[in-house]
Amino acid sequence: MSDVLQNYVNGAWCDSAGGELFDNENPAQRGSVLNRAQASTPEDVDAAVGAAAEAFTHWSRTPVTERQAAVGRFLDALAEGREELARIVSLENGKTINESRGEVDSALLEGRHHLQQMSVFAGESSPRVEGDVTAWEQLHPLGVIGVISPWNYPMNVMCRKTLPALLTGNTVVFKPASFTPGSAVFMAGLFEKSGLPSGVFNCVTGRGSALGNQLIKDPRVRAISFTGSTEVGRKIQIMAGEDFTRTQLELGGKNAMIVLADADLDAAVEATVKAGFGCSGQWCTSTSRVLLFPEIAEAYMEKLVARCEIMRVGDPLDESTSMGPVAGPSQFDGISAAIAKAQSEGARLQFGGVSENADGYYILPTVFDGVTREMSIFSEEIFGPVVAVSTVKNLDEALEWANDSIYGLSSSIFTNDMAAAMRYVREIESGMAHVNIHSGFKTPELPFGGWKESGFGPPENGKTGLEFFVERKAVYVA
Ligand code: NAD
Repeated sequence: MSDVLQNYVNGAWCDSAGGELFDNENPAQRGSVLNRAQASTPEDVDAAVGAAAEAFTHWSRTPVTERQAAVGRFLDALAEGREELARIVSLENGKTINESRGEVDSALLEGRHHLQQMSVFAGESSPRVEGDVTAWEQLHPLGVIGVISPWNYPMNVMCRKTLPALLTGNTVVFKPASFTPGSAVFMAGLFEKSGLPSGVFNCVTGRGSALGNQLIKDPRVRAISFTGSTEVGRKIQIMAGEDFTRTQLELGGKNAMIVLADADLDAAVEATVKAGFGCSGQWCTSTSRVLLFPEIAEAYMEKLVARCEIMRVGDPLDESTSMGPVAGPSQFDGISAAIAKAQSEGARLQFGGVSENADGYYILPTVFDGVTREMSIFSEEIFGPVVAVSTVKNLDEALEWANDSIYGLSSSIFTNDMAAAMRYVREIESGMAHVNIHSGFKTPELPFGGWKESGFGPPENGKTGLEFFVERKAVYVA
């Protein structure tokens, strides 16, 4: 990958009109610059939207099978580029190389699902004859779609939005997060390689606050599919709402895991490690709160701390590393401040904190117990490897505490009691519920989206993964 990353607009690689660049830092080595990317301007977004609007004229009329073939070639190129892309993701995001390979695999799985689903989706309408009237339902693509993605799953999230948008006949302007321009530019290269016509997919790097308005307020942009924080999602929704621009918002979380007295404790602890510290706690579906029944609280804590002690925190490219650095300086500062605040509010630090390894932005797997509902660590999304453990009296209290959140993205319960598990499934206020599985587990056939302030609009994947990107028309012919 070259030292200077360019935008990809109308099938060509180009510099920003403003001529400014920003540094893409390697979070495992403070101050080191992997490459520099275009600090684009609203003018660049305007050009990209113009190209996408023009390309829409022919792409929307391209037969579905040809669109599927193009997306199929993209997925083949993605499979071929797996190792190279995983390395780029690890270098700029800090997740371990195995986690990055897993991210590419997840994008492939979901992409192939969308590809197959498109055949069913396109053929679902059967004309009906009623007397002299023949009637059917027709699908139409929307137009230009703005895709805005976060840095934590820099390639998987963009694929989950972009591929359904392209398959249904829309064109895309993609604005990646500024921590991860390298993987975005690599993905744009794969679209170029797969022979997608010029202007169908465009990628413009830069700061969301500088480019967001232009993308969201442009009348040629018919929908915004956004994944990121609830704070930014709210701003986007307010802006888009004024013009009735369609939105799909996948937002923050504060996901709870409930552990009952009869649970398999080893499995519960493994799930906490996997979903609490995977990607350094930077999954939207990370387990960040644990609610323990009193009978097993001490045993669970002993096992969890023992498990944290053997985790290897370090270089994400080293195959034996279990947790890499967090994604960058703002992440590091925010998580460090949240840890200090939890201590000042009286939560007990049982393991972890800021790492002594100052080469990169390293935080250890961190566990607090004695967490009460009044503490900020109980309610605020930290988005780092920090697990807040509380003890609850019974299932009533566990469910009340789990649901005591503005968020409702994911959750889990560990128990062998079927009735308790089914009550949890009925009463938990979250878009994903897991019984004896960690909170990050997902499959593409089921919806991926949050309740309450964790999501807005139709969820990704599942039945609605393609639906978001089409208009429906009822046709009656006499
Ligand atoms: P963020 O909200 O800071 O940024 C997300 C994207 O929005 C980036 O591309 C950013 O440049 C852009 N942006 C920032 N300000 C903007 C504005 N005013 N207008 C338009 N775009 C703007 O989030 P982040 O730090 O990249 O990611 C972490 C957050 O994402 C966490 O809250 C996490 O829970 C959430 N997340 C949610 C899901 C999900 O599926 N629900 C998945 C991954 C991450």
